[in-house]
Amino acid sequence: MDNSLRELYQEVILDHSRHPRHYGALDGATHKAEGYNPLCGDRVNIYLVLDAQGRVTDIKFEGKGCAISQASASLMTEMLAGKSRVEAERLMQGFLHLVKGEDGGELPEDAREHLEVMGGLSAFPMRVKCATLAWHTFKSALEEGAQ
Ligand code: ZN
Repeated sequence: MDNSLRELYQEVILDHSRHPRHYGALDGATHKAEGYNPLCGDRVNIYLVLDAQGRVTDIKFEGKGCAISQASASLMTEMLAGKSRVEAERLMQGFLHLVKGEDGGELPEDAREHLEVMGGLSAFPMRVKCATLAWHTFKSALEEGAQ
C-alpha cells in the first residue's frame, strides 16, 4: 500500500472514531449482542432491527475502546444499514478475509473500497482483533436475537 493511501485510510479511521456514525442505543432492537476484546479492552454493543424479510432496517452501536475498534464499528453500521441478512453475511466474510490480508472474494466494488480502509491492518495481528470485534458482535447478534 502506498503512503498516500495509507494516510487517507488513517484519516478515515480517525474521522470515524471521533465522529462515530449510528452511535447510541436502539429502542425496539430485534437483535443485540455485546462484544469484548480482552487483548485491548475494547467493548462494542450492537443493536439492530431486522424486518420480516431479514433486512437490516436499523443498526446502531455503543462502545468504548481504541480508535480502530470504534471506527470499525462505525464503518460497519454504515455499510450494513439497509442490507439483507444474506448481503450482510457476505460483507462480513469479505471483511474478515481482507483484514487478514487475504482476497476479499466476490465483494461489490463499493464495499471493497469501504472495507479496504481496514485492510492495512493485516500486518498487526493485535489490531485485527480490534477491527473485527464489531463484525463478530454483529454475527452474535444475528444468531442470538434480542433475548
Ligand atoms: Zn483495540
